[in-house]
Amino acid sequence: MSLRTILYGYEVKNGKYLVLEIEAKVVRDIFADYIGGKSLKAIAAELTEQGVIYYLDKSVWTKNLISRIIANPKYAGTDGYPAIISQTDFELANKRKSDMGGTQTELPEITTLIKSKLVCSCCSQNMGRRNKWRSREKWLCPSGCKVDMYLGDREIFSVLLHTLNRVRRNPEILRLNTDPVEYSPSMEVIRQNKEIERVKEQTGVEFGVLSKMILKCVEQKYECCPLDRSRAMTEALMKKYRNLPIITELDIVLIRETVQKIAVNKDGTLTVTFINHAEVTNIETEEQTA
Ligand SMILES: [Zn+2]
Repeated sequence: MSLRTILYGYEVKNGKYLVLEIEAKVVRDIFADYIGGKSLKAIAAELTEQGVIYYLDKSVWTKNLISRIIANPKYAGTDGYPAIISQTDFELANKRKSDMGGTQTELPEITTLIKSKLVCSCCSQNMGRRNKWRSREKWLCPSGCKVDMYLGDREIFSVLLHTLNRVRRNPEILRLNTDPVEYSPSMEVIRQNKEIERVKEQTGVEFGVLSKMILKCVEQKYECCPLDRSRAMTEALMKKYRNLPIITELDIVLIRETVQKIAVNKDGTLTVTFINHAEVTNIETEEQTA
């Protein structure tokens, strides 16, 4: 297969680049159509359908080919190429291109948020995101752990959505194995309990005396219960998810408030860690769905 060596739209004569009008017209149409809102794919399909020749007998136009034409500054007159389009049109087309997901575009807020939470399950480093890997994004571990399943934004988002809905359907899975925290009485509580038992066995003890002793003991017991923030958080989380309607799209506020991190496992599954440290995967086991 022979490849074109001269840029589409030009010919070389006496060592100089000249505009080849028949092709230049196609270039102008491509820019005009693209600025006008047509997609790269639609433009490529039309040119192919019209049988417009790209080079020799090649008349199949692809999205990538159109994309390369639009990105080439020579068409606006640089590097010794006469201009085929205006600098303004070149800028307009490329502005649209970057708005549509070029490399300089800022990520949408939801993607940025998920990027900040997404970690490699092996090394706990934040996953990197390649904007373009062939046709879609790809997430990969920056340290090179082989957690590089072909995960694009779509896969990550849909797995996360599925996991959040799973929690919504069954908030109990947010309960931690460590709940409830075990109560361990202090020496003082043990001593007071013995004292209470001893007094109870005696005859003729005033009710007031005994109840005072019991109350004092309860107070002591209360003090040796650790303040369990995680447990309170679990309850609050469960309540929040129980009251949610079906989640149809990722909610920035919900994720920011309830999700601590999202780990990508080697097999491409995700483990979502909630702010109470509960871990939920997107794989449903039988006892969890019951
Ligand atoms: Zn890693």
